[in-house]
Amino acid sequence: MSTTLNADLHCHSVVSDGTLTPEALASRAKANGVDLWSLTDHDEIGGQHRALAAAREVGLSYLTGTEISVTFAHTTVHIVGLGFDPDHPALVQGLKATRGGRDQRAKDMAEQLVAVGIPGAFEGALVYAGNPELISRTHFARFLVETGVCQDTSEVFRRYLTEGKPGFVPHRWAKLGDAIRWITQAGGMAVVAHPARYDFTPTEEYALFSEFKAHGGQGVEVVTGSHTPAEFIRYTDLALEFDLAASRGSDFHSPSESHCDLGELPPLNAQLTPVWERLADRIHAP
Ligand code: AMP
Ligand code: MN
Ligand code: MN
Ligand code: MN
Repeated sequence: MSTTLNADLHCHSVVSDGTLTPEALASRAKANGVDLWSLTDHDEIGGQHRALAAAREVGLSYLTGTEISVTFAHTTVHIVGLGFDPDHPALVQGLKATRGGRDQRAKDMAEQLVAVGIPGAFEGALVYAGNPELISRTHFARFLVETGVCQDTSEVFRRYLTEGKPGFVPHRWAKLGDAIRWITQAGGMAVVAHPARYDFTPTEEYALFSEFKAHGGQGVEVVTGSHTPAEFIRYTDLALEFDLAASRGSDFHSPSESHCDLGELPPLNAQLTPVWERLADRIHAP
């Protein structure tokens, strides 16, 4: 399968912090010309059977997916898993543990917001959380926009919920090696999500990719809604240097919030090995 396939292997549903159901995402992906799709909810695989059934229904090829929150070098890094068995106990248990601290973190975030004159944020955010086990900063952002504290979610993340700003609670997520092991043991491939988004020095980034490979990670997102065209080039070079397969995905969350829609991305550079070539036997044909 070629680098020109319209694969979108990164997006979110109401099972994490997206606003659409898995079924609505499948229809939207199909309408936008996607050939191969994956739903990658944060720290959750509870939507996988629905997504696969919906993909079949609309005639889309499907790879199972998730996006695991990891702490590496005091920074939150996201690792996408693709093509795994969604019922594998190591993965199911690992993700359940990763989701575990979110409720208390959200209460601590709300407490900080009270201190700056914003009451009711925990209950307010919970209204937007389709999955009570997965209350995220995105749900707080929607509450802060809805109540008029901020104009849009990007203003929220400039003024609140990020390091040094009110509502930021440091959190210890999964270990890099554990996340890769859960994905790999379940038969899938681990992929570094949107590498340009992390605030790493070149040395720290090199350490991330070296350790990622040493633990058995095999892919990197090159073309993503989170990267600029210059970053597509930079991570094409990095994928070739580290001999990693390349992935492509919009990171679509919501029609009103996401600037990159499902399937609307440039193709991967033809020199790259796409992740879908290495995962060919894991693809569910429609
Ligand atoms: P959490 O996993 O609860 O820390 O929430 C992380 C989520 O917040 C990400 O997956 C994004 O959906 C959202 N997010 C983080 N930073 C930003 C930003 N600068 N602009 C918009 N959304 C963001
Ligand atoms: Mn998100
Ligand atoms: Mn992410
Ligand atoms: Mn994402």
